[in-house]
Amino acid sequence: MKGCLFIVAAPSGAGKTTLVRELLARDSAVKLSVSFTTRKPRAGERDGVDYHFVTREQFQRMREQGEFLESAEVHGNLYGTSRVWIEGEMAAGRDILLEIDWRGAGQVRAAFSEAVGIFILPPSIEELERRLVGRGLDAADVIARRLANARNEMKHVGGFDYVIINNELHSAVDELVWVVRAARLRLPVQRAHHPQLFFQLTQSDDED
Ligand code: 5GP
Repeated sequence: MKGCLFIVAAPSGAGKTTLVRELLARDSAVKLSVSFTTRKPRAGERDGVDYHFVTREQFQRMREQGEFLESAEVHGNLYGTSRVWIEGEMAAGRDILLEIDWRGAGQVRAAFSEAVGIFILPPSIEELERRLVGRGLDAADVIARRLANARNEMKHVGGFDYVIINNELHSAVDELVWVVRAARLRLPVQRAHHPQLFFQLTQSDDED
């Protein structure tokens, strides 16, 4: 195992997108997976950058052909992670980050047990509500549905390795950076990056 696979999940409004953007700015070795979705682009979103925007028919065809490592329906839209892209990046030993929901996270962890699961929580339910309303991107019924979904999403925090409470952005970004750095120091990753060193330093004639 050379590259690390990070999964970042959070309820809508926890600040995941900002945190991930800050992480990528501070750590250029991490590459973000661009998901496929049937959701319509929001203002300012670009095809191929924020998401690959596809029709439901295209998505279903891709799913039938096994093109997704994981896929899930979130807020009434379909989302999926490209299997080919992930496998290619993993084979090249690159660090990849997936911004996906808890269902997708479970599917990825079933395929890659060494994946590092990170869950972002808001500091309180009141703050989460305030942030969901404050974004001003969606209609009231959409916000209400997202809040209900957020509560449901947070019930699945138990399936993750690390939890970051996003109270103050700078501290939360620091914590995310630390998790990524610590994950790179895991024995199998270090061994894969420094095979000669491990061989030289750990081979010996006598046993202890
Ligand atoms: P949004 O539409 O607001 O960008 O994302 C809505 C939700 O879909 C978020 O929780 C996000 O993490 C999740 N999501 C985005 N891409 C994927 C994906 O490829 N797979 C899964 N399972 N969830 C995704």
